[in-house]
Amino acid sequence: MDRVKESINRVIDGLTDKITAISRYLLENPETAYQEYKACEYLSRVLEKHDFEVEQGVGGVETAFFARPKDRGPGRTTVALLAEYDALPKIGHGCGHNLIAAASLGAAIGLQSALSDSAGGFVVVGTPAEEGGGGKVRLIEAGVFNGINAAMMFHPSQQNIPGKDMLGRIKFKMEFHGRTSHASNSPDKGINALDALVLAFTNINALRQGLRSDGRIHGIITHGGDAPNIIPDYAAGLFYVRGASIRYRDEIFDKVVRCAQAAAMAVGAKVNIEIDGPKIDPFKHNPALQSAFTKNMELFDIAVDTDNGRRGSSDIGNLSHFLPAIHPFLSILDGGIAGHSTEFRDATDTDKGRATLLAAAKLLAMTAYDFLNSTRLQEQVAMDFRKE
Ligand SMILES: [Zn+2]
Ligand SMILES: [Zn+2]
Repeated sequence: MDRVKESINRVIDGLTDKITAISRYLLENPETAYQEYKACEYLSRVLEKHDFEVEQGVGGVETAFFARPKDRGPGRTTVALLAEYDALPKIGHGCGHNLIAAASLGAAIGLQSALSDSAGGFVVVGTPAEEGGGGKVRLIEAGVFNGINAAMMFHPSQQNIPGKDMLGRIKFKMEFHGRTSHASNSPDKGINALDALVLAFTNINALRQGLRSDGRIHGIITHGGDAPNIIPDYAAGLFYVRGASIRYRDEIFDKVVRCAQAAAMAVGAKVNIEIDGPKIDPFKHNPALQSAFTKNMELFDIAVDTDNGRRGSSDIGNLSHFLPAIHPFLSILDGGIAGHSTEFRDATDTDKGRATLLAAAKLLAMTAYDFLNSTRLQEQVAMDFRKE
């Protein structure tokens, strides 16, 4: 291992308690999408203590931040270390974003202390609302990532996979409007909006059999009526569709719209479908940057697992079409436990979870250093990015 990487790792080892404390603070103070006020404030303070200049509320997103190292000239090439810190409703950090923020801050603080070069070259971007909110898309649109050459983060997982496919996604609301009436003495006068929604689920279940293995549809009922003796005049659900390509994602969405329209027609209700938040694109891999990360994993004897084929989505998908990005998954627990669960949340603060966190901070810092230090790698990364 080269001397700079050794010194990066020594510095990050010295930050172990601090990095663990960041993860634990977020774990104990979970905040859902766009409500991450405490997290944004806490992470900003930590970065300021380590000589970063932090701007909160960037891109018009209150709980986003942008941190650049103080007292360094601007680097010609700049890497963004991405910090996610939103939690899930009810189960808190069941996706382990507390580890994502802690690892990216650990990497940035490590680079700040270990790199003697006075050029900047690395920033931390606090990207809220990954879970269903598409925070990164709003930041891209607001120009927050302009001038950045590459972005990186890690995501906790059951496996070590530096380059896993992620699906495109559309989140949308489905609302049915009918007419209320007494459910016993005049059911003939009502139009049951809940029945239309239930039929829409049934239609979707029939559609699901004909989907490819990368197609996903899942939803919940958010409003199913007000009292059992009133025919519901309003029923609503929240749904996701996903597909491995933009085209397939959109094709499934169109079919689901037809399922809803057919359900409305059967009952005589009206349907309204509204897309909620930005559409999420599938992840575009950057093999050159990914392989730099994988080589660093090898230095730590972390073996790449055989991909179990399980797929989610992330708003880094959209970012990966805007600039070269990596989103490696690193294991914090043995397989068998699902993501988005309390077990996964609790695994973020076990011996293995903390060890992975520290390794992730080092791997991100080492890979950022590789990129900043090699024009050849920068060229390869740019070339990979230009490919379709
Ligand atoms: Zn998640
Ligand atoms: Zn996640």
